Amino acid sequence: MRQDLPAAPIQEATVTAISNGARSPVDFSERPMLVFWETTRACPLACRHCRASAQPRALPGELGPAEGYRLIDQVAGFGRPHPILVLTGGDCLLRPDLFGLIGHAQSAAIPVALSPSVSPLLDRRMIGRIAASGVKAVSVSLDGASPGTHDRVRGIPGHFGSTVQAIRALVDAGLPVQVNTTVMGANAGELARIAALLEHLSVHAWEVFFLVQTGRGSAEGAVTPAEHDDICHFLYDASQYGFVVRTVEAPFFRRVVAARRAGGAPPQRPLYTALSGELAKLLGTGARRPRAHTAATRDGKGIIFIGHNGDVFPAGFLPLALGNVRHQPLARIYRENPLLTAIRAARFGGRCGYCPYADLCGGSRARAYAATSDPLAEDPACPFEPDQAAPRS
Ligand code: SF4
Repeated sequence: MRQDLPAAPIQEATVTAISNGARSPVDFSERPMLVFWETTRACPLACRHCRASAQPRALPGELGPAEGYRLIDQVAGFGRPHPILVLTGGDCLLRPDLFGLIGHAQSAAIPVALSPSVSPLLDRRMIGRIAASGVKAVSVSLDGASPGTHDRVRGIPGHFGSTVQAIRALVDAGLPVQVNTTVMGANAGELARIAALLEHLSVHAWEVFFLVQTGRGSAEGAVTPAEHDDICHFLYDASQYGFVVRTVEAPFFRRVVAARRAGGAPPQRPLYTALSGELAKLLGTGARRPRAHTAATRDGKGIIFIGHNGDVFPAGFLPLALGNVRHQPLARIYRENPLLTAIRAARFGGRCGYCPYADLCGGSRARAYAATSDPLAEDPACPFEPDQAAPRS
């Protein structure tokens, strides 16, 4: 899977899209809510922040069709309510057996979401085929409000126009569309304009990725902890214009949402005031019920990721292999791996260890690992200073 849109996780927004919010509560110690499968690393794009550093061709060792069917059977083995299976890449459209896999999952009553790359493969004919396949949601990536930013990030002239066209076609086909945006220094100032564009395009959900230094993402500058906070407050505002807002690798968004719901004021720092002011200018005052999602998932808690060769990871951005589905059942790895049980029990170090939001948030385990080599360390992107003496929630 990649850190950019094509391979981006479809998270809680997808759950809502699939279920209209009617799914039963999930016991995350027993089963994930989302299973991401990096069906291939092959991708025609070469985006600058690609988690997987995707390749033009499939890598040796990729799970074959029969192994894919067996993996789907393992996902069914979690029992009901079944996790949602998100087929990512690379570009999942480069799997010749993609529609067979979708059909097999559906025959087991597993909801499927797709995360394709925007390439010439995603044409109207393919979109029609996807819509007819029964896929529940589709996500695509948009990293700028204009061709200048998006095309530079993607490294492909004209890709912004193709992406907007693809979003329109997917929406027109009746599919719930999630747009994924990776925040970085180069586009943080454009977030209000991206939000306005999404509102005009009638997308269902906006999922905002906060960069973890992995894959080609290491070449891009991350924003500061204070700017992360500003962006989270802005995203809460943006969730009042009709689309669902979620974050990836920024679980501290839930702390911000909890504070705002409790009547807390947003910060008066330059990035927040600029973004929220521009959004109000573009779309007027947000008057809808905030749709900021706050399920207490995190890497390894409610989420599990299977790499192209069957290796299992807590998440797509946390490169610690826990086992391989060729040799061990996925459910056993998810339920019994000691790292995952520690993550689910919120046994964290540093500020995340004594934070009152440890269970609701818990910090990005991927970023903690990238920064310290300890997946249970504190998340350095969060500026919150919890009171060490205060009880945890
Ligand atoms: S200190 Fe850790 S657990 Fe607390 S809000 Fe920040 S990232 Fe989340």
